[in-house]
Amino acid sequence: MGIRENIQKIRERIERAALRAGRDPGEIKIMGATKTVPPGKIREAYQAGLRLFGENRVQEGLKKIQELKDLPLEFHFIGVLQSNKVRKAVENFSAIHSVASLKLAKKINSVALEKGMSYPVFFEINLGAEESKSGFPPEVFFSSLEELYSLPGLKPLGLMTIPPLGENPRPYFVKLREILEEVRETFGPEFKELSMGMSDDYEVAVEEGATFLRIGRAIFGERT
Ligand SMILES: *Cc1c(COP(=O)(O)O)cnc(C)c1O
Repeated sequence: MGIRENIQKIRERIERAALRAGRDPGEIKIMGATKTVPPGKIREAYQAGLRLFGENRVQEGLKKIQELKDLPLEFHFIGVLQSNKVRKAVENFSAIHSVASLKLAKKINSVALEKGMSYPVFFEINLGAEESKSGFPPEVFFSSLEELYSLPGLKPLGLMTIPPLGENPRPYFVKLREILEEVRETFGPEFKELSMGMSDDYEVAVEEGATFLRIGRAIFGERT
């Protein structure tokens, strides 16, 4: 199947999942997760109506942003971010979904303040207690709230998670939604987004409240 057909099918499935959950499908955004995907395929996805894309590596992302700058696309950063790449990420991506530590949050804050902006971020939560995965363990997130809140260079939009591979994702999506609800008042009305759900579990994520779906293989095919 082609990219256009894939996107069409995904849209239909999202709509059905949203209706099952009594949600408005219009509040759910599809992000094309484009690591290893060449610019030509991103162009095809654009022609099929996609506008938002997520990249995992700064250098790879910058190349594609450059090659596709004739199109009105929005790129978010969704990968592991090293401190020394923060400046480039802030300058070239319009949001970071993978703010995985207080240290990284502070670094983004200082770059954003230098530029006189407040920069849109999602805090990544590591719900599976997986050592191999990045993200705030929930208890660390809660104990960092006050410091996170005190960083004026950040504009916190919500939370992001990746459930452990091979497990039922639903309890993890539920948990992320509960954490969002618990801390919502801390960050104010703009803090309402749930970045969760990928190719194999986006319908479950929609049922549990996702607002940003990060979808790669189901749109672009298997990565090579
Ligand atoms: C690769 C990736 C995705 C998309 O994964 P698929 O299984 O291809 O849909 C989503 N989020 C992040 C952070 C990723 O690295």
